[in-house]
Amino acid sequence: MGTKIIPVSVTRKSLSQQQRALEILSRLQRLYPDATCSLNYSTPLQLLVATILSAQCTDERVNKVTPALFAKFPDAASLANADLAEIENLVRSTGFYRNKAKNIQAACQMIVSKYDSVVPRTMEQLLELPGVARKTSNVVLAHAYGINAGVTVDTHVKRLSQRLGLTKFADPLPIEKDLMQLLPQPHWENWSIRLIYHGRAVCKARSPLCQACDLSDLCPTGKKTLMTEPTKQSMATIDGDMVK
Ligand code: SF4
Repeated sequence: MGTKIIPVSVTRKSLSQQQRALEILSRLQRLYPDATCSLNYSTPLQLLVATILSAQCTDERVNKVTPALFAKFPDAASLANADLAEIENLVRSTGFYRNKAKNIQAACQMIVSKYDSVVPRTMEQLLELPGVARKTSNVVLAHAYGINAGVTVDTHVKRLSQRLGLTKFADPLPIEKDLMQLLPQPHWENWSIRLIYHGRAVCKARSPLCQACDLSDLCPTGKKTLMTEPTKQSMATIDGDMVK
């Protein structure tokens, strides 16, 4: 007896949550093969600083201020001993600059005094640093050290994971836990970085371009949108508002 071929549409309907997440990951890898961290840095310390600055700010804006900041203060020791007002001036355009400058300096002071000027390599140690939460720690561990300790949940990852029906939570920590259960550990950062690309290009915050989305058959929000708003979606295409 030959193998029974199941139509793709039927197979997709029966995909478990985990299979769906893996299929989404596989498509994202094909869509964004060269996706990488958008922040510019040369050392783990510079990545840590850039990630602190990226809170409530675009990576593009951060990349505009870090060349001057790192030219003047390239490492933990120089930032730890800098005039705080000077750091504030250099990072002012990233927003919340007083708090960010204070945290950067305090984190660098701890890195110098407790870790011999080397950014630590564990989640527990990173979380001790002022101004450093799980998002920053995950980014630093993954991109500076190649360690997948968790899933980075920024605003894009949060929004897309919710729209894709992979989590019901609104807070980053439970969202991260859901994603860690669904995805294989070696792909945790893989997932976040590509989802961020997809969020910027297609699944935008205010108006997701579901008609142009390669994940629409796997996405409950997309299916609903395409069923209820075909006219609006078509108009967006006609207006040239599509990314694809
Ligand atoms: S189908 Fe729509 S909501 Fe779903 S991921 Fe794509 S753009 Fe986002």
